[in-house]
Order: sequence, then structure tokens, then C-alpha cells
Amino acid sequence: MRISRAIRISEPLLCAIRNNFRALFLSAINDRKRQLYNRRKGLRFNGKGVNIPIVQLDNNTLVLYEELGNRWWELERSLRRSILICPLCNSSKKNMIYNIDKNAWFCEDCNPRLI
Ligand SMILES: [Zn+2]
Repeated sequence: MRISRAIRISEPLLCAIRNNFRALFLSAINDRKRQLYNRRKGLRFNGKGVNIPIVQLDNNTLVLYEELGNRWWELERSLRRSILICPLCNSSKKNMIYNIDKNAWFCEDCNPRLI
């Protein structure tokens, strides 16, 4: 396994600043994901709140349904590869190491398990 980069911060004030920035970005990303999810989910219900099976959606609605799902997953995949959160333990408060083999950032606790 090749490790290309580790970012370690030990000073408590800098850790707090880093963690707050990560929380801010995570909040914005999760808000956007929630909007996409709710808009997509809304396509599956008619005006009376009755669930519409996917096979009964018209072609334009089906295309939009798939596009919203793709956009949600694009955000999710970007988030899982980012330095904001460890994709294994979901921690956003630890020092991170970029794992070049996985093309993603993992925390210092999880990265050694990938060897
Ligand atoms: Zn981890």
C-alpha cells in the first residue's frame, strides 16, 4: 500500500477550527442531498399523497427521477472520497490520511486496517 499524504493537526484550537469547517461543509452537502432526495421522493406521489409505482411514471418524470438519483449519488461518492469524513467510521473529527490505492481519505485509525 502506498500512502501519499497525511494531514495531522494536534493543536486543540486548530483541531476545533478544522472540525467546525468540516461540520459546516457537511451540513451544506447534507442539505443539498436532502433537497435532492425529497424532490425525487415527491415524484413518486400524486397530489393526494398516493404512491405512484415507478413503472407508471411518464417518461419525462422517469428521466428526472433518475437524474436526481444520479446527482444524489454523485454528491455521496464525492463526500466518501473527501477529507471531510472517514468512509469507514464516519468520523469527521480525526486526522486524515489520503490512501492513493483507494483514492480516498481515511482516518488514522481506519487507514491501517486497509493494508
Ligand atoms: Zn475511520
